[in-house]
Amino acid sequence: MERISILDTLNHVGEEVVLKGWVNTRRKMGKMIFIDFRDRSGVCQVIFLPNHAEALEEAKKLGVEYCIELKGMVNQRPEKQVNKDLATGTVEIEALELKILSESETPPFEIEDEFKEEVNEELRLKHRYLDLRRERMQKNLILRHNVAKSMREYLYEQDFMEVETPILTKSTPEGARDFLVPSRNYPKKFYALPQSPQQYKQLLMVGGIEKYFQISRCFRDEDARGDRQPEFTQLDIEMSFVERDDVIVAMEELITQVVKVVAPEKKLTFSTMPRKTYQEVMDEYGVDRPDLRENKEDPNELAFLWVTDFPFFEKTEDDKWTFTHNPFSAAIPDHHEWLMQKENIGDIITTQYDMVLNGFEIGGGSIRNHQPEALKKVLEIIGYSDEEIQANFGHMLEAFKYGTPPHGGIAFGLDRLVAVLAGEQGIRDVIAFPKTLEGRDPMMDSPSDVDQEQLDELSIKLV
Ligand code: ASP
Repeated sequence: MERISILDTLNHVGEEVVLKGWVNTRRKMGKMIFIDFRDRSGVCQVIFLPNHAEALEEAKKLGVEYCIELKGMVNQRPEKQVNKDLATGTVEIEALELKILSESETPPFEIEDEFKEEVNEELRLKHRYLDLRRERMQKNLILRHNVAKSMREYLYEQDFMEVETPILTKSTPEGARDFLVPSRNYPKKFYALPQSPQQYKQLLMVGGIEKYFQISRCFRDEDARGDRQPEFTQLDIEMSFVERDDVIVAMEELITQVVKVVAPEKKLTFSTMPRKTYQEVMDEYGVDRPDLRENKEDPNELAFLWVTDFPFFEKTEDDKWTFTHNPFSAAIPDHHEWLMQKENIGDIITTQYDMVLNGFEIGGGSIRNHQPEALKKVLEIIGYSDEEIQANFGHMLEAFKYGTPPHGGIAFGLDRLVAVLAGEQGIRDVIAFPKTLEGRDPMMDSPSDVDQEQLDELSIKLV
C-alpha cells in the first residue's frame, strides 16, 4: 500500500491507509495508547486498541520523536469528539500494524509544543535538524519555498532567464569586506566570495542575455551588527534596454504578485507603491526607510514604498569621496554631465532606487553606467588611480567597449522579505541553517581548525 500524508487521511475515511512520520506525544489510557502522529502535512490522532494486540504491544515501546510506519483505519470521529484545533480533528486513526523505523533519544528540547518553553537559540541551532521539525520552522520554510517558487514562476512568465554565476570570484569594492579563499594552484593569490553577482550580471547583459535573474547567495564579512548573516540570499535581477521607470514598474508588479500568491491575507497599505525621493523621506521621517503602515501593531499590514534620488557620493571620515550605494550606478540623466566633468560631486543624484517594506530596505538597484568612460569617472571620483582601475575593473571597462546595451537591475533580500511576511523579527528564523549572531554554526562547529597539511598546500602560515 502506498503511503499517504496525514492531512490526506481526511479524504480516506473508512479506508485502510499507510502513514509514515514521527511520534509527537504518547499517552496511555487504561488498556489503550494514544499518539499524536506528525508528518510534514500535519498531525493526527492514532489510537492503539487491545483488539490489535501486536500493534498495541509494539506501541508500548514508543517514545517521542520515534520515526514509525503505521497501517491504520481512518474512522470518522463522533460529533462530540471532533477536535476543532486540529486540521484532521474530524478523524482518528485506529492502528492495525506498527513498525518502528528508527528510535529516538529524548530530544534536548520539546518539538511538539514550542510555545510552552522559550528554547535557547544556541541549543536550537546546535540541533537545528530537530528545530526544523517544529511547526514554526516548518511553516517558515514552506513560506520561503512558496516565495521563491512564485518569484520564479512570475519571472519565467515574463521571459527572464535564470543563470548561475560563480561563487569563486574576485575581490570587488561593493562596500563590505570580502570573504577570501586562498588558491592552492596560485600560491599567495585569493579568490573572493561574491558580495553580490553585480559584475557578472552586468557582463551577462553584455553577453546578450537581456533579462536575467538568479536566486543567489551573497557573502559579506561584516561585524555582527543588527540582524545580519555572513551569507544571505538575494533575488538578483538585471535587464537590458530599460530606464529607471521600467525597472520600478516591473519589480512592483513582481513583488505585488508574489505577496498576492503567498500571503493573500495581508493587507496592502497602498494599492500602488508610493515613490518618494531621498530628500522627501529624510525631511518627513528622518530615515531613508520609513515604516508607513497605518497600524504598526498589525503584522498583516504591508507598507511598500520606493525611495529614489539618493546622492551618488558622500564624504568619508578622511574627507574622500565614496559611493553611497553602488559604484556601477549611473547618475540621473540630468546630472550625467556633472559626472563626466567631475563637478558638483556632492550634488550628483544616482539612479538608485530602494524598495522599502515596513521600515526595512528589502530591495535596491539602479540603472548602470554602460559607457566605459562614465564608469571610469565614478572610479576616479572615489579615488582609484589608473593602475588600480585597470587591475580591479579592467575587465568591465574592456567588456563595455563592445556594444554594451543600456541596462539596469535590482536585488531583493529574500531573507528579510520572508521574515516580514512570516511575522518573524529575525532572518535567522527563515533560514534553514543560519549562523549565530556572532557568525558561528554550533551544529557543524564552524569556523573550525584545519590540518597542517591543508595549510601547507595553501602556503599559509598561521600567526
Ligand atoms: N548588487 C546590488 C546589491 O547587492 C543590487 C543591485 O544594484 O542590483 O545591493
